[in-house]
Amino acid sequence: MQKLIRTCSVWRALEVVGDTSTLLILEASWLGARRFDDFRTRNGLLKALLSNRLKRLVSLGLLEKRLYCESPPRHEYIMTKKGGDLYWVSLMLLRWEKLWGNREGKIEVELTHKTCGNEFTPTPVCNHCREEIHAYDVDWREGPGVGWMTPVYSRRRQLRDQDAQPTSLLDEAAKLMGDRWASLILRSVFTGLNRYDEIRGDTAIATNILSERLSWLIERGVLKQKQYSKNPPRFEYHLTRKGMDYYPALLFLLQWGDKYFVSPEGPPLILIHKLCGQDLKPVVACSECKEDIEPRGVDFIVIERAGETERREKVG
Ligand SMILES: [Zn+2]
Ligand SMILES: [Zn+2]
Repeated sequence: MQKLIRTCSVWRALEVVGDTSTLLILEASWLGARRFDDFRTRNGLLKALLSNRLKRLVSLGLLEKRLYCESPPRHEYIMTKKGGDLYWVSLMLLRWEKLWGNREGKIEVELTHKTCGNEFTPTPVCNHCREEIHAYDVDWREGPGVGWMTPVYSRRRQLRDQDAQPTSLLDEAAKLMGDRWASLILRSVFTGLNRYDEIRGDTAIATNILSERLSWLIERGVLKQKQYSKNPPRFEYHLTRKGMDYYPALLFLLQWGDKYFVSPEGPPLILIHKLCGQDLKPVVACSECKEDIEPRGVDFIVIERAGETERREKVG
Protein backbone atom coordinates (compact mmCIF):
# COMPACT_ATOMS: atom_id res chain seq x y z
CA MET A 1 0.00 0.00 0.00
CA GLN A 2 1.21 3.46 -0.89
CA LYS A 3 1.89 5.59 2.16
CA LEU A 4 0.73 9.18 2.03
CA ILE A 5 1.47 12.14 4.22
CA ARG A 6 -0.39 15.40 4.60
CA THR A 7 0.80 17.98 2.05
CA CYS A 8 2.85 20.55 3.79
CA SER A 9 5.33 23.18 2.89
CA VAL A 10 7.38 22.19 5.92
CA TRP A 11 7.95 18.75 4.49
CA ARG A 12 8.86 20.13 1.07
CA ALA A 13 11.28 22.53 2.71
CA LEU A 14 12.72 19.72 4.83
CA GLU A 15 13.45 17.79 1.66
CA VAL A 16 15.88 20.64 0.96
CA VAL A 17 17.32 21.66 4.31
CA GLY A 18 16.54 18.64 6.48
CA ASP A 19 20.16 17.58 6.39
CA THR A 20 22.74 18.56 8.98
CA SER A 21 25.64 19.00 6.51
CA THR A 22 23.47 21.24 4.33
CA LEU A 23 22.57 23.43 7.31
CA LEU A 24 26.21 23.74 8.30
CA ILE A 25 27.13 24.80 4.76
CA LEU A 26 24.40 27.44 4.75
CA GLU A 27 25.61 28.67 8.14
CA ALA A 28 29.16 28.95 6.83
CA SER A 29 27.89 30.88 3.82
CA TRP A 30 26.11 33.36 6.13
CA LEU A 31 29.34 33.77 8.01
CA GLY A 32 31.15 34.70 4.81
CA ALA A 33 32.44 31.43 3.34
CA ARG A 34 32.65 31.53 -0.48
CA ARG A 35 35.27 29.06 -1.59
CA PHE A 36 35.53 25.32 -1.22
CA ASP A 37 38.35 25.59 1.30
CA ASP A 38 36.48 28.19 3.38
CA PHE A 39 33.63 25.71 3.76
CA ARG A 40 36.02 22.90 4.58
CA THR A 41 37.80 24.88 7.26
CA ARG A 42 34.59 26.03 8.88
CA ASN A 43 32.63 22.80 8.76
CA GLY A 44 35.31 20.13 8.70
CA LEU A 45 33.17 18.08 6.30
CA LEU A 46 34.83 15.42 4.20
CA LYS A 47 35.70 16.58 0.69
CA ALA A 48 33.34 14.18 -1.10
CA LEU A 49 30.43 15.03 1.20
CA LEU A 50 31.02 18.77 0.93
CA SER A 51 31.28 18.67 -2.83
CA ASN A 52 28.10 16.58 -3.08
CA ARG A 53 26.13 19.02 -0.89
CA LEU A 54 27.45 22.11 -2.68
CA LYS A 55 26.39 20.61 -6.00
CA ARG A 56 22.97 19.85 -4.56
CA LEU A 57 22.55 23.38 -3.18
CA VAL A 58 23.46 24.81 -6.59
CA SER A 59 20.98 22.54 -8.39
CA LEU A 60 18.25 23.50 -5.91
CA GLY A 61 18.97 27.17 -6.50
CA LEU A 62 20.14 28.10 -2.99
CA LEU A 63 23.73 28.77 -4.00
CA GLU A 64 25.13 30.07 -7.25
CA LYS A 65 28.45 28.82 -8.59
CA ARG A 66 30.61 31.60 -10.02
CA LEU A 67 33.97 31.51 -11.73
CA TYR A 68 36.45 33.75 -9.95
CA CYS A 69 39.61 32.61 -11.69
CA GLU A 70 39.88 31.55 -15.34
CA SER A 71 43.03 29.53 -15.29
CA PRO A 72 43.09 27.33 -13.45
CA PRO A 73 39.26 27.48 -13.32
CA ARG A 74 38.14 28.14 -9.76
CA HIS A 75 34.67 28.72 -8.42
CA GLU A 76 33.02 30.31 -5.47
CA TYR A 77 29.56 29.76 -4.05
CA ILE A 78 27.32 32.75 -3.51
CA MET A 79 24.00 32.71 -1.69
CA THR A 80 20.99 33.33 -3.96
CA LYS A 81 17.77 35.12 -2.96
CA LYS A 82 16.14 31.74 -2.36
CA GLY A 83 18.99 30.71 -0.06
CA GLY A 84 19.06 34.13 1.55
CA ASP A 85 15.37 33.88 2.41
CA LEU A 86 16.26 31.09 4.83
CA TYR A 87 17.85 33.83 6.93
CA TRP A 88 14.80 33.97 9.21
CA VAL A 89 14.91 30.23 9.79
CA SER A 90 18.57 30.47 10.68
CA LEU A 91 17.95 33.36 13.10
CA MET A 92 15.32 31.24 14.84
CA LEU A 93 17.68 28.26 14.99
CA LEU A 94 20.34 30.52 16.41
CA ARG A 95 17.90 31.81 19.01
CA TRP A 96 16.94 28.26 19.97
CA GLU A 97 20.58 27.21 20.16
CA LYS A 98 21.34 30.13 22.49
CA LEU A 99 18.40 29.26 24.72
CA TRP A 100 18.82 25.50 24.82
CA GLY A 101 22.02 24.30 23.17
CA ASN A 102 25.04 23.26 25.16
CA ARG A 103 27.52 25.91 24.09
CA GLU A 104 30.26 25.06 26.56
CA GLY A 105 33.64 25.18 24.87
CA LYS A 106 32.10 26.21 21.57
CA ILE A 107 32.02 29.45 19.67
CA GLU A 108 29.26 31.91 20.37
CA VAL A 109 27.74 34.79 18.54
CA GLU A 110 26.61 38.22 19.61
CA LEU A 111 24.04 39.93 17.41
CA THR A 112 23.87 43.70 17.27
CA HIS A 113 20.98 45.54 15.68
CA LYS A 114 22.57 48.38 13.72
CA THR A 115 19.43 50.56 13.82
CA CYS A 116 19.29 50.80 17.62
CA GLY A 117 22.86 49.78 18.41
CA ASN A 118 21.83 47.16 20.98
CA GLU A 119 22.77 43.55 21.37
CA PHE A 120 19.49 41.75 20.75
CA THR A 121 17.62 38.47 20.60
CA PRO A 122 15.79 37.86 17.33
CA THR A 123 12.15 37.64 18.38
CA PRO A 124 9.32 36.15 16.29
CA VAL A 125 6.32 38.50 16.29
CA CYS A 126 2.93 38.69 14.58
CA ASN A 127 3.08 41.39 11.93
CA HIS A 128 -0.48 42.41 12.77
CA CYS A 129 -0.54 42.84 16.56
CA ARG A 130 3.26 42.79 17.13
CA GLU A 131 2.97 40.31 20.03
CA GLU A 132 5.64 37.63 20.37
CA ILE A 133 4.55 34.37 18.74
CA HIS A 134 4.17 31.28 20.93
CA ALA A 135 3.09 27.88 19.66
CA TYR A 136 0.03 27.80 21.95
CA ASP A 137 -1.28 31.09 20.51
CA VAL A 138 -1.42 29.75 16.97
CA ASP A 139 -4.38 27.91 15.52
CA TRP A 140 -4.53 26.38 12.07
CA ARG A 141 -7.01 25.33 9.45
CA GLU A 142 -6.57 23.52 6.19
CA GLY A 143 -5.92 25.80 3.25
CA PRO A 144 -7.01 25.37 -0.39
CA GLY A 145 -3.81 23.50 -1.24
CA VAL A 146 -4.28 20.75 1.35
CA GLY A 147 -4.05 17.18 0.16
CA TRP A 148 -2.04 14.04 0.56
CA MET A 149 1.20 13.33 -1.16
CA THR A 150 3.72 10.55 -1.48
CA PRO A 151 6.86 11.39 0.40
CA VAL A 152 10.12 10.88 -1.40
CA TYR A 153 12.58 9.48 1.05
CA SER A 154 15.99 9.95 -0.41
CA ARG A 155 18.81 8.22 1.35
CA ARG A 156 21.36 10.65 2.59
CA ARG A 157 24.22 10.19 4.91
CA GLN A 158 23.32 11.82 8.18
CA LEU A 159 25.58 13.47 10.69
CA ARG A 160 22.91 13.41 13.37
CA ASP A 161 24.79 11.89 16.24
CA GLN A 162 28.19 13.07 15.30
CA ASP A 163 29.21 16.30 16.93
CA ALA A 164 29.44 19.19 14.56
CA GLN A 165 32.65 21.16 14.56
CA PRO A 166 33.25 23.45 17.53
CA THR A 167 33.36 26.21 14.90
CA SER A 168 29.64 25.76 14.30
CA LEU A 169 27.08 28.09 15.83
CA LEU A 170 24.20 25.71 15.22
CA ASP A 171 25.06 22.42 16.78
CA GLU A 172 21.97 21.01 18.46
CA ALA A 173 19.66 23.06 16.24
CA ALA A 174 21.28 21.72 13.08
CA LYS A 175 20.96 18.17 14.39
CA LEU A 176 17.27 18.65 15.09
CA MET A 177 16.29 20.39 11.86
CA GLY A 178 18.81 18.23 10.01
CA ASP A 179 16.78 15.17 10.91
CA ARG A 180 13.75 15.29 8.65
CA TRP A 181 11.95 12.56 10.59
CA ALA A 182 12.34 14.36 13.87
CA SER A 183 11.12 17.64 12.40
CA LEU A 184 8.19 15.93 10.71
CA ILE A 185 7.20 14.36 14.06
CA LEU A 186 7.36 17.79 15.67
CA ARG A 187 5.15 19.21 12.93
CA SER A 188 2.51 16.63 13.91
CA VAL A 189 2.81 17.35 17.62
CA PHE A 190 2.57 21.10 16.98
CA THR A 191 -0.71 20.50 15.13
CA GLY A 192 -2.12 18.71 18.18
CA LEU A 193 -1.43 15.08 17.39
CA ASN A 194 -0.03 13.46 20.52
CA ARG A 195 -0.64 9.74 20.26
CA TYR A 196 1.63 7.24 18.59
CA ASP A 197 -0.99 6.10 16.07
CA GLU A 198 -2.00 9.67 15.23
CA ILE A 199 1.59 10.68 14.61
CA ARG A 200 2.18 7.56 12.54
CA GLY A 201 -0.93 8.24 10.45
CA ASP A 202 0.15 11.82 9.85
CA THR A 203 3.77 11.12 8.98
CA ALA A 204 3.69 7.63 7.45
CA ILE A 205 6.99 6.88 9.15
CA ALA A 206 7.84 3.19 9.53
CA THR A 207 7.21 2.01 13.11
CA ASN A 208 10.83 1.20 13.94
CA ILE A 209 12.03 4.62 12.77
CA LEU A 210 9.17 6.39 14.52
CA SER A 211 9.87 4.70 17.87
CA GLU A 212 13.57 5.41 17.59
CA ARG A 213 13.02 9.11 16.74
CA LEU A 214 10.48 9.57 19.55
CA SER A 215 13.01 8.19 22.05
CA TRP A 216 15.69 10.41 20.55
CA LEU A 217 13.47 13.49 20.93
CA ILE A 218 12.74 12.55 24.56
CA GLU A 219 16.44 12.02 25.23
CA ARG A 220 17.20 15.48 23.85
CA GLY A 221 14.53 16.98 26.10
CA VAL A 222 12.29 18.16 23.25
CA LEU A 223 9.35 15.82 23.94
CA LYS A 224 8.05 14.26 27.14
CA GLN A 225 5.69 11.36 27.73
CA LYS A 226 2.35 11.61 29.53
CA GLN A 227 0.49 8.49 30.50
CA TYR A 228 -3.16 8.53 29.42
CA SER A 229 -4.12 4.92 30.08
CA LYS A 230 -3.01 2.68 32.96
CA ASN A 231 -4.18 -0.65 31.65
CA PRO A 232 -2.73 -1.21 29.12
CA PRO A 233 -0.12 1.50 29.80
CA ARG A 234 -0.26 4.06 26.99
CA PHE A 235 1.49 7.35 26.53
CA GLU A 236 1.03 10.60 24.70
CA TYR A 237 3.89 12.73 23.44
CA HIS A 238 3.95 16.36 24.49
CA LEU A 239 6.34 19.22 23.93
CA THR A 240 8.61 20.41 26.70
CA ARG A 241 9.50 24.12 27.00
CA LYS A 242 12.55 23.37 24.88
CA GLY A 243 10.34 21.74 22.25
CA MET A 244 7.86 24.63 22.36
CA ASP A 245 10.67 27.07 21.70
CA TYR A 246 11.56 25.23 18.50
CA TYR A 247 8.23 26.27 16.99
CA PRO A 248 9.38 29.57 15.41
CA ALA A 249 12.06 27.73 13.43
CA LEU A 250 9.42 25.45 11.87
CA LEU A 251 7.10 28.40 11.38
CA PHE A 252 9.61 30.34 9.30
CA LEU A 253 10.49 27.16 7.44
CA LEU A 254 6.80 26.79 6.59
CA GLN A 255 6.74 30.35 5.33
CA TRP A 256 9.80 29.70 3.16
CA GLY A 257 8.26 26.50 1.81
CA ASP A 258 4.99 28.32 1.00
CA LYS A 259 6.97 30.87 -0.98
CA TYR A 260 9.15 28.51 -2.99
CA PHE A 261 7.00 25.38 -3.34
CA VAL A 262 3.74 27.00 -4.27
CA SER A 263 0.82 24.72 -5.02
CA PRO A 264 -1.46 26.27 -7.64
CA GLU A 265 -4.49 25.98 -5.33
CA GLY A 266 -2.89 28.00 -2.53
CA PRO A 267 -1.16 27.21 0.74
CA PRO A 268 -1.96 23.81 2.31
CA LEU A 269 -2.09 25.25 5.80
CA ILE A 270 -3.41 28.57 7.08
CA LEU A 271 -2.32 29.78 10.49
CA ILE A 272 -4.32 32.08 12.70
CA HIS A 273 -2.92 34.16 15.52
CA LYS A 274 -5.40 33.65 18.36
CA LEU A 275 -4.37 36.85 20.16
CA CYS A 276 -5.57 39.10 17.33
CA GLY A 277 -7.68 36.72 15.25
CA GLN A 278 -5.81 37.52 12.03
CA ASP A 279 -4.06 35.17 9.60
CA LEU A 280 -0.57 34.88 10.97
CA LYS A 281 2.23 36.59 9.14
CA PRO A 282 5.36 36.05 11.22
CA VAL A 283 8.23 38.52 11.12
CA VAL A 284 11.44 38.77 13.12
CA ALA A 285 11.81 41.81 15.35
CA CYS A 286 14.54 43.20 17.58
CA SER A 287 13.98 42.33 21.25
CA GLU A 288 15.21 45.82 22.26
CA CYS A 289 13.66 48.40 19.90
CA LYS A 290 10.87 46.10 18.55
CA GLU A 291 11.58 47.13 14.95
CA ASP A 292 11.69 44.53 12.14
CA ILE A 293 15.09 43.03 11.48
CA GLU A 294 16.57 43.37 8.00
CA PRO A 295 19.32 40.95 6.96
CA ARG A 296 21.71 43.81 6.32
CA GLY A 297 20.86 45.43 9.63
CA VAL A 298 22.67 42.91 11.80
CA ASP A 299 26.30 42.72 12.92
CA PHE A 300 27.57 39.30 13.91
CA ILE A 301 30.40 39.07 16.39
CA VAL A 302 31.75 35.56 16.65
CA ILE A 303 33.38 34.85 20.00
CA GLU A 304 35.85 32.03 20.48
CA ARG A 305 36.99 31.21 23.97
CA ALA A 306 40.00 29.08 24.78
CA GLY A 307 40.68 29.02 28.52
CA GLU A 308 41.28 32.58 29.64
CA THR A 309 41.62 34.07 26.17
CA GLU A 310 38.77 35.35 24.11
CA ARG A 311 38.86 36.11 20.40
CA ARG A 312 36.15 38.27 18.84
CA GLU A 313 35.68 38.45 15.10
CA LYS A 314 33.15 40.55 13.23
CA VAL A 315 31.66 38.78 10.22
CA GLY A 316 29.14 39.51 7.50
ZN1 LIG B 1 -1.42 38.86 16.11
ZN1 LIG C 1 16.85 47.19 17.73
